[in-house]
Amino acid sequence: MVIPFFAQIDRYFAAAAPHTGLPAGLLEQIRVCNSVYHMSFPLERDDGTIEVIEAWRAQHSAHKLPVKGGFRFALEASEDEVKALAALMTYKCALVDIPFGGGKGAVRIDRSRYSDAEIRRITRRYTFELVMKNFLGPGLDVPAPDYGTGPQEMAWIVDTYSALSPGLDAAGCVTGKPIEHGGIRGRVEATGRGLYYGLREACDRAEDMRRLGLEPGLDGKRVVVQGLGNVGYHSARFLAEGGAVITAIAEYEGAIQSDQGLDVGAVRQHRRDSGSILGFPGARDLPVSADALELDCDILVPAALENQVTGDNAQRIRARIIGEGANGPVTADAHEELTRRGVMIVPDLYLNAGGVTVSYFEWIKNLSHVRFGRMGKRFEEDTRLRILQAVEEATGHTFDDATRRRTAAGASEIDLVNSGLGETMATAYEEIHQAARQKDVDLRAAAYSLAISKVGQIYQDRGIFP
Ligand code: NAD
Repeated sequence: MVIPFFAQIDRYFAAAAPHTGLPAGLLEQIRVCNSVYHMSFPLERDDGTIEVIEAWRAQHSAHKLPVKGGFRFALEASEDEVKALAALMTYKCALVDIPFGGGKGAVRIDRSRYSDAEIRRITRRYTFELVMKNFLGPGLDVPAPDYGTGPQEMAWIVDTYSALSPGLDAAGCVTGKPIEHGGIRGRVEATGRGLYYGLREACDRAEDMRRLGLEPGLDGKRVVVQGLGNVGYHSARFLAEGGAVITAIAEYEGAIQSDQGLDVGAVRQHRRDSGSILGFPGARDLPVSADALELDCDILVPAALENQVTGDNAQRIRARIIGEGANGPVTADAHEELTRRGVMIVPDLYLNAGGVTVSYFEWIKNLSHVRFGRMGKRFEEDTRLRILQAVEEATGHTFDDATRRRTAAGASEIDLVNSGLGETMATAYEEIHQAARQKDVDLRAAAYSLAISKVGQIYQDRGIFP
């Protein structure tokens, strides 16, 4: 039996807490969920009938404002789930030094049963409810895309918020928006890119790889990915570009496998065209989706939903590394079983932090009202061209146009976003890795203890009031 999600986060918290040295009362304050808004509202369906929709927004920790966290459409959504996901956001933001508390929102629907117009009405009404209860705003609570939602829903949120609460900073009430609504380049693929950077860091530690019986580096590593949505697709794409071989991809309807490696873009196109991942030319079909988790591989990337690797299937997992793309894909029971067997688990609160990292950049962009790179790009280019010219004059050598362009190019918004993301993931991995060694714990316990300590430090520095 799978224990409730928040209780699983509690178990990870309990394993890490003794390593923080924080007093029991403060640990309890950090652990609990500060507030949850549970709402029910009517939806007028396209055929004129009325349906009651159930939804939540949880604010786990307001030690820093705004709180930040995705908003999902999922039939499995529950109060326990949003509280757990909000808690994960608190620890994730603290771990990668993003100055936000943790939040999460969910609407309990099966998205595929609703038309686009109905989804728009649900999103606008959900936003309205949040605004009425002061659960949304650039300095209060800032949602982002998550399971079943994307840039379109974020555009509806910002539009509704701006109408109800107009102001100079209204665009900062949500991130993951389309560019033309105040979004930032690189946000859509940020979680997958961050996952790639994170696994690259993990695989570059030669000693750790040797312990797992693997060669250092991502090159040639066999990877199985579960979920071909935002996180799964972009993770698989970047991992393949980085030299890994995607040997299997699982979706709802089944999985496909090829030892030669799958072309991730072509698989996605095939699913769009045919409505199923199955039947991809040159690949073997696995009709039971979950079987893909148990395939022999170097890295398993669960990037769909929580509770996928559980006490029931953990013994059959053959991956040497699990890179958690989704939030909570490995249950606490499975975590214990797998780490006992020496499997390296690169935990969700670190590995999928790329999304919130770039969301943070988007929020800064919205509040500063200027695109990254706009002020400095041309100045950088002019300066470099002057240096090249000085070198030419001093040496008598003339650079060709391609070299001149490549050397002089200034940083654009996407360059800066990717640089900031790369720096964030590399720095955080080094911190986690060091903490794991010092405390002699696994990467998850190390990540939690770092995150809890950072939140605790804020409380201790500021005092608890009123
Ligand atoms: P998404 O809706 O874009 O994609 C999820 C995919 O998983 C869908 O294609 C769905 O059909 C598939 N799926 C669902 N159940 C499955 C199953 N049992 N087997 C195989 N495939 C299945 O969602 P997403 O944004 O990619 O989010 C996925 C996970 O990553 C969630 O846990 C989410 O909280 C987490 N996450 C997302 C982001 C982000 O920026 N979107 C950031 C951090 C974490």
